[in-house]
Amino acid sequence: MVQEQLKKILSEIPKEVTLVAVSKTKPSQLILEAYNAGQRDFGENYVQELVDKATQLPKDIRWHFIGHLQSNKVKYIAPFVYLIHGVDSFNLLKEINKQAHKQNRVINCLLQLYIAKEETKFGLSFNEATEILQSNALKELNHICIKGFMAMASNTDNSSQIIQEFKSLKQFSLQFPELSILSFGMSSDYTLAIQEGSTMIRIGSHIFGTRNYTK
Ligand SMILES: *Cc1c(COP(=O)(O)O)cnc(C)c1O
Repeated sequence: MVQEQLKKILSEIPKEVTLVAVSKTKPSQLILEAYNAGQRDFGENYVQELVDKATQLPKDIRWHFIGHLQSNKVKYIAPFVYLIHGVDSFNLLKEINKQAHKQNRVINCLLQLYIAKEETKFGLSFNEATEILQSNALKELNHICIKGFMAMASNTDNSSQIIQEFKSLKQFSLQFPELSILSFGMSSDYTLAIQEGSTMIRIGSHIFGTRNYTK
C-alpha cells in the first residue's frame, strides 16, 4: 500500500521536486516499507519521535524536521538532522548555529513564512524574513546555511485562496534567487503547490494513510 502510493505520487510529480514522506505518528515498520521502495527523505514534527526513529532506522535516511522547534530541543537533533524546515526566529537560528558548531557541522535551514489567513499558523512575515536575511548578525552564523523557505497554506477547500497564498510566497522568494528550496504543498494541495513553483512537497496521509492521534 505504502509502496504503491509512493510510486504513484513519484510518477505524477516532476523529477526536480523533492518528495518528503511525512511519517509522523507512523511506526518504523511503515517507514521501512517506504525506504525499501527507495524513499530516503522523511519528515517528522516531534523531536523525541524523530530521535527514536533515527536511532532505529537506516543511517542514510535524510531526516527533515518540519514541526515547530523549541530552542531547548535543538541539541537532540543537531547531530543528524538533514534539513530544519520551520525556522521562525533569529534566536532559533542562533541556537541551531551553536549546536551545529558543537557537532562540527553545518545545518541546513528553511525560514518558515506565514502565508495563511489563519491565526494558528507559525511563521515569519515577509518583512521579518527580509530583516533576518539582510542582517549583519546572520553573517556570523557559520554553522547554519539558509537554503530557502517553507510555508503552509490555509486549511481550506478554496483553491483560489490556496493558489494566491502560494503565489505570494513564490513572488517573495524571487528576491532571493540563491535560496532555491521552496517547501510547500501537502497531501491536499501538492498539485497546486507544484504548479505554483514548489520544489519540495511534504506528504503524509496520502502515502501512509490518515493519522490516528488518540493512542
Ligand atoms: C503533517 C504535516 C504535513 C503532512 O500533512 P498531510 O496532510 O498528511 O500530507 C506537512 N507539513 C507539515 C508541517 C506537517 O506538520
